Amino acid sequence: AKTQGRGQFCFFDEAMDRQATERRQLELELRQTIEDRALQVQYQPLACLETGQVNGFEALVRWNHPEQGYIGPDVFIPIAEESGLINELGDFVLETVIREAASWVPPLRVAINLSPVQFRNKNLITKINKLLEETKLDPGRLELEITEGVLIHDTKTALSTLESLRNLGIRIAMDDFGTGYSSLSYFRMFPFDKVKIDQSFVRDMIQNPQSLAIVQAVIGLGKGLGLSVVGEGVETEEQLAALRDEGCSMVQGFHISRPQPIEYFASVIKRSKVF
Ligand code: C2E
Ligand code: CA
Ligand code: CA
Ligand code: CA
Repeated sequence: AKTQGRGQFCFFDEAMDRQATERRQLELELRQTIEDRALQVQYQPLACLETGQVNGFEALVRWNHPEQGYIGPDVFIPIAEESGLINELGDFVLETVIREAASWVPPLRVAINLSPVQFRNKNLITKINKLLEETKLDPGRLELEITEGVLIHDTKTALSTLESLRNLGIRIAMDDFGTGYSSLSYFRMFPFDKVKIDQSFVRDMIQNPQSLAIVQAVIGLGKGLGLSVVGEGVETEEQLAALRDEGCSMVQGFHISRPQPIEYFASVIKRSKVF
């Protein structure tokens, strides 16, 4: 406690101070880690439900902190977004992943998550275009995953960015669909190639009729619009079978594989074999 006089609030103040200090410390360390190019990327396969074939991987950034061990992107991406580090972090991911994927056997695709902050950066398209030219990666094998957060603020600019990316031949996926401020009108306004059903719905679609109904609706919507539909967070054979019954096109989740360093998938990226 700081002083007796401040009574019951002093402990609370101290906890707040400590939290703020820890966060500033983490931010400094993250800045250094990005500068040192010491973040890692893991890859999680997406499999076609009909053929069982892996047709691509989602890239997921990782931070292995020297003292604190593994820190999840759910923790450090928001810090990067608030502190202005997200563009450097995002550039690291784009460079690392596009260079990596350029060596995979076609038609394997790679999906990269884009933060809304990155998406609004004016240099994004030039940057991606340069990397595609440098690596000769077919733009049709690059997919960018965005969330609704990208679309709600400046709809006109978002639309023109999406159209430029599409004109380069890059594919666009709507991530975490059904959470946040999902609006059906987005599908009329924006050119998507894929919709990913959020894992919260897949997780309890077996036990919860509401979740099942939402999964069915998103699959129906996606198919009606000619999009490929991915069920995310598939952890059991039962969920896999249920998604197949509902006509989902692709699955991703621990049941198929956890995210891993790319070396783990050496045989897949060389031969595109059945998983
Ligand atoms: P996301 O894009 O929805 O990625 C899927 C998350 O679900 C990943 O968590 C993945 O490891 C996890 N996951 C996959 N299958 C399963 C499963 O069967 N069960 C469970 N419980 N989880 C599963 P991760 O890697 O911790 O990433 C969390 C979020 O951080 C991502 O959610 C994405 O929003 C963000 N993120 C990750 N990498 C990047 C990046 O390079 N750039 C940006 N901007 N965001 C990223
Ligand atoms: Ca994603
Ligand atoms: Ca997702
Ligand atoms: Ca998510």
